[in-house]
Amino acid sequence: MLGAHFVEIFSSVQGEGPYVGLRQIFIRFAGCNWKCAFCDTPTNPRPEYFTMEKTPGQRDFIQVANPVKPERLSELIKQYYNLSHHHSISLTGGEPLIYHDYITRLVPALQGTRKGIYLETNGTLPEELASVINLCNMISMDIKLESATKEKTPWELHREFLKVASQRDVYVKIVVSNKTNSHELERAIEIIQSIDPNIELVFQPVTPKGGVLPPTNDSILRFQELALSAIKNVRVIPQTHLMMGQL
Ligand code: SF4
Repeated sequence: MLGAHFVEIFSSVQGEGPYVGLRQIFIRFAGCNWKCAFCDTPTNPRPEYFTMEKTPGQRDFIQVANPVKPERLSELIKQYYNLSHHHSISLTGGEPLIYHDYITRLVPALQGTRKGIYLETNGTLPEELASVINLCNMISMDIKLESATKEKTPWELHREFLKVASQRDVYVKIVVSNKTNSHELERAIEIIQSIDPNIELVFQPVTPKGGVLPPTNDSILRFQELALSAIKNVRVIPQTHLMMGQL
């Protein structure tokens, strides 16, 4: 089996969404099928090396050559981290579902955390999700608004994706900016409501990057009120790991 390319691997606290503060091992796959204006991840899909922090918080990084086979990756993770101390393993990116075949080989070798696999995805690859859904315990799915990403929103892909993801513990994250408008929010809210109004929605004010700025305080509260008219649980949570200086 061919290997996959990674950007970094580390153990830290989840900084986004309703699982904020929980301890995870982060496996950041290289490459993405989307192009958000605010993206803070290196865009090279084939980096020569990935970095791995040997001791959480110590910044004692090693460099490991890409690509890496799943057996080797799981060995490295178990060598440096105690899986039983972790809530879950975050498969993140980039877009991890690009590597859906690889994930089917990797996940069985990474048993031993408390809650299993947490998939962080841009919500645009429904068929790929279907091929690994049985391996995922929790899913953080984005709905990508054009006002923040500067890319056209793939509405129907998001709808299909959420239908598949709703078989698991899923929440939807929407990054909002000062350009976000009620028309696109209503479309996003309709998708969630039509599949299951109990699915939690998190508004994440954008961390300024690429000329994209966060909404004002009163705007974000109006967004939340709009969503609460149709969805049961709606939270506003910024990227907290940046406030703490965590990876
Ligand atoms: S989906 Fe995520 S990784 Fe891909 S471009 Fe957007 S922010 Fe970056």
